[in-house]
Amino acid sequence: MSMRFLLGTGVICAFSAATPSAAVAEVPRVVTDIAPVHSLVAQVMAGVGVPDLLIDQATSPHHFALRPSQARALQEADLVIWIGAGLSPALSGAIADLARAGKEMALLSVPQTDLLPIREDVRFEAHRHDDHDDHGHDDQGHDDHDDHGHDDHEDEGHEDHAHDGAIDPHAWLDPDNAALWLTAIAEELAAADPDHAQTYLRNATNAARQVEDLADQIEADFAATPPPAFIVFHDAYQYFEDAFDISAQGAISLSDASAPSAARLSEIRTIVVEQGVECLFAEPQFDPDILSAVADAAPVSIAVIDPYGGHIPTGVDFYPALLQDLATGISGCKG
Ligand SMILES: [Zn+2]
Repeated sequence: MSMRFLLGTGVICAFSAATPSAAVAEVPRVVTDIAPVHSLVAQVMAGVGVPDLLIDQATSPHHFALRPSQARALQEADLVIWIGAGLSPALSGAIADLARAGKEMALLSVPQTDLLPIREDVRFEAHRHDDHDDHGHDDQGHDDHDDHGHDDHEDEGHEDHAHDGAIDPHAWLDPDNAALWLTAIAEELAAADPDHAQTYLRNATNAARQVEDLADQIEADFAATPPPAFIVFHDAYQYFEDAFDISAQGAISLSDASAPSAARLSEIRTIVVEQGVECLFAEPQFDPDILSAVADAAPVSIAVIDPYGGHIPTGVDFYPALLQDLATGISGCKG
């Protein structure tokens, strides 16, 4: 499936198929990890080229394993743009070589990206209304999560990924991050391909404005019609909640989509009853059976949302469609 997908995008991507890499002034061959990143890069490259997508939409990046054909695609890329090791640990080894060669861009490492620590509590606190500027890389900014911090002494077994491991990697669901990354991607591509620098930068500016306009509209929609109390499948929506001032009551799985313990499931059942949860959100990449262990605690509706947009066609329109789809899915679920 993944291989077929890669071959398919290779055909669409005429630049990577048809042009020898030794030629001068070629459009960079760009490989992206997930569909949301693919869409942001496709918007920046519009009119110039098309990036490839590594992880097909039916696969959870948390559980992704690299196939030989995909390893080859990485090796042949001029630039790999990905979220970072915190999302898809299986990619970090393959990408380490590229990073040494300066052919890698991890979006979680773009300066000024709004980063949130992973939530380990079963019960989510209501969204904090503090200013976003202190969510950066500095350890001091996360005092209120002191039990789960990424202290240096905790990193046995995590090696150099300890830092990524403490950050919730689903940062593309914050539209401010997307807008920031569009510009950073354009600057990276402009440096690699100066002939098309103006197009990249202009595309990024236009795309960022579109994202900001959409975010304003979604924020207004949620303000006018607050969503029902809801529980999500894996803790992937923290950035979306933060951006739009809404809050899930909890998540069945942690942000790495690991299987929940029996104790965690039991706690979620309690939350469903105590908080009057009306909606449970399943995700297409994961077994829905686990939801029934929660759903029989109280009368709830079950709907599907997907932080990876598995049902949305990939390409330039994907990213805004993903934000709109999540907003519609969350507010449209009626208990
Ligand atoms: Zn996830």
